[in-house]
Amino acid sequence: MSLRIPGPTPCPENVLQAMSKQMINHRGKEFGTLIQQVTSRLKELFQTKGDVLILTSSGTGSMEAAIVNSLSPGDKVLSLSNGVFGDRFATIAERFGAEVTRLTFEWGRAIDPDAAKPALESDPKIKAVLVTHNETSTGVTNDLAAVANVAKQYDKLLLVDAISSLGCIDLQVDAWGCDVVVTGSQKGWMVPPGLAFVSVSQRGWQAHAEAKMPRFYWDFSKAKDFLGKSQTPWTPAVSVFYALGIALEMMAEEGLPNIFARHAHLGQRTREGVKALGLSLFADEKHASNTVTAISSPSGVDSKRLVDTVREEHGIVLAGGQGNLAGKIFRIGHLGFVTEADIDGVIAQLRLALPKLGYKLPAG
Ligand SMILES: *Cc1c(COP(=O)(O)O)cnc(C)c1O
Repeated sequence: MSLRIPGPTPCPENVLQAMSKQMINHRGKEFGTLIQQVTSRLKELFQTKGDVLILTSSGTGSMEAAIVNSLSPGDKVLSLSNGVFGDRFATIAERFGAEVTRLTFEWGRAIDPDAAKPALESDPKIKAVLVTHNETSTGVTNDLAAVANVAKQYDKLLLVDAISSLGCIDLQVDAWGCDVVVTGSQKGWMVPPGLAFVSVSQRGWQAHAEAKMPRFYWDFSKAKDFLGKSQTPWTPAVSVFYALGIALEMMAEEGLPNIFARHAHLGQRTREGVKALGLSLFADEKHASNTVTAISSPSGVDSKRLVDTVREEHGIVLAGGQGNLAGKIFRIGHLGFVTEADIDGVIAQLRLALPKLGYKLPAG
């Protein structure tokens, strides 16, 4: 069975083997060396000289951490959302008492950074902007550099969900001025679920010093203090740290420009492959993601049935649509440990599966 969903993603064999090592003392020297080594490699991949913290958490936990470490109840926040994950970020902020203005964009289209300006102009009390870099639910990559530009222009804190983009698609944390950026180990990092990585800028730390939302497990100050002692405040997912050590070594060997180029190539190849089958991309192609491709189910074909058929009869696990898109789209993940042959395999199996559901392939 081959896994082609946008997380968890398949892991290289040596990464999996690293996970079978015996436990070590998380307050001991061996773990200390490992956490320092992975943290310094993560900083390179985040393209930041600021702090990167490692949390034992899924991606959503790190979204909550970004909110509760940066804001106080009653703070005004502008949410820019074009899908399920953008909406989730806004909901977390609301749940902890922020006053959220939701600016929503059509699903499948990119966020328009200029559209944030009137909202920021009309309410100078807005403290922070929330945005999703790569909207996994629709297969759209937002122009984060442009959103960051607008946030800086209005002097706002910028919190970024980069869970399905960091380590795959260019994201220049320092150069673009992103204050808190979060990602999860099971997406582009070739590592199983269990760890989340968070960068915090100087401005992020200033906001943290004033932020009064309740937090204990997620406290960034605690994480930073303990990192100073080469530890984490709470027992970490030690096995996932082993895996991360190996995966980051592989990523360092490949190099960021090559990683970005590989994902760009795989994204392009996926889009070309599905179009050659006569299918339509769900996302606006100008902003189509290089880590996940969303495809509109052809008329008369329920995408849930297609996903079932491809899994049961063709051995490939694809993702369906989330929320309102259930049954209407399906998604192919192409992030992390993926090759051109993997993509060609998915397209070949789709070519065999689609006619079984009554779809007529284009001639030739
Ligand atoms: C996967 C994903 C999440 C959620 O991560 P979990 O690890 O499932 O909590 C949030 N945002 C984006 C953009 C994602 O791709």
